Amino acid sequence: MKNFLELHYWKKEKDEIEIEHFFDVEEVLIPLDFKEKYTIYKQKNDYIHMGEVVAKDINNFPIFSSVAGTFIEIIEKNYKKDKKIKYIKIKVDIKNKKNNFKKRKNYENLTKKEFLKILKDYGIIDFNKKNTPVYKKFMKLKDDKIKHFIINGLETEPYLNGNNIVIYEKIKELKIIINFIIKLFKLENIIIIIENNKELSNFFKIHFDKSVIIKRVPKLYPLHKENLLIKYLFKKKYSRDLTKHKILMLNILCVLDIYNAVVENKPVIEKIVSVNGKGIEKPSILLVPIGMKIKDILEYCFYYNNKCKQIVINSLMDGEAIYNIELPVLRETKAIIALDEKETEKIKSYKCINCGRCVEVCPMNLVPLKFLDLSVKDVESIKKYNFDKCISCGSCQYICPTNQPLRETIYYLKKKLEEIDE
Ligand code: SF4
Ligand code: SF4
Repeated sequence: MKNFLELHYWKKEKDEIEIEHFFDVEEVLIPLDFKEKYTIYKQKNDYIHMGEVVAKDINNFPIFSSVAGTFIEIIEKNYKKDKKIKYIKIKVDIKNKKNNFKKRKNYENLTKKEFLKILKDYGIIDFNKKNTPVYKKFMKLKDDKIKHFIINGLETEPYLNGNNIVIYEKIKELKIIINFIIKLFKLENIIIIIENNKELSNFFKIHFDKSVIIKRVPKLYPLHKENLLIKYLFKKKYSRDLTKHKILMLNILCVLDIYNAVVENKPVIEKIVSVNGKGIEKPSILLVPIGMKIKDILEYCFYYNNKCKQIVINSLMDGEAIYNIELPVLRETKAIIALDEKETEKIKSYKCINCGRCVEVCPMNLVPLKFLDLSVKDVESIKKYNFDKCISCGSCQYICPTNQPLRETIYYLKKKLEEIDE
């Protein structure tokens, strides 16, 4: 398929991998809002319970403690090279590691209003869509007839295989909550998207009746991105806000968060994180508390200190390299990839040869090589080359034979434009 990359050969498959719970930690760093606009409800030496709201962000969205323990202090660390973030440091009460969330009785009788309130109060976010609070998506569709309810279980990025494992292990939970949402909103067209894998598709079909369509799509990068997937499914371009077209799309991990909130009465305090790459010995899918340090996770997966040359968060294609492994798992962290020397080998950068490969591969039909000479002040050219349409997928960088700094340039330009907007 044109404009997509076949990357599966990069992926380290591991059949017998399963989700491991890893909570063995002495302290956590609960991340506060990036924009530094939050209200903190706790102070030094306060005892905090697991799942308690410790702060709220600028949108009044709750920030929870993932552990029980004592508030030590607020510290600041560089998250990315140029972005600082504050954290609440909590010393874990090792005698109180059990979660005391009690299953919600009669969740089946919740009204739409009550359901939306739970999504808001329990901090459910769709990380595939610029960290949008999920209740907002539902709010927009509350009184409309939803035309299509799509659950996105596709993962097309190298080294990531968390979604499939979640599907196999949490099918009962997924089934309960999907059927609940279908009933509550009286939905008719339900599609679950998975990679082109017959075994996985048959597994789904055992658990859902025929009214739920299981759609297999090719594992091509970056087809998992919401709007590209919609274009592929309906052979038509839609505007970015799918709710305008009465389409509700949720990522499968987000559906699991909804299950935890609605049925288990549990806010989002843990993350399923894929840990992979040649710089570690034990590739794993871990369930860890938000705020656990990346260093603790890497040590648990036996990372080779001398062999590991770079740590990348979330994705090799459009993720972030981090240089400080004392940083914690954030709400949006889904993968930690430890690369060895071979994988990080720097290819010498030559002059752009105008080969056009970056153009061929761009899923948004842009001309990435033109971005190399753009300046934030050159508003005309930014418009002319549709820079705002770039989804930062990294495909152009991956394909470029002369290793032009495309990803770096795009990141820099986006950051500068964001600053101007603020
Ligand atoms: S792929 Fe690289 S070398 Fe080829 S046109 Fe694009 S920027 Fe230039
Ligand atoms: S990063 Fe932007 S310009 Fe490059 S391929 Fe992806 S969408 Fe196109």
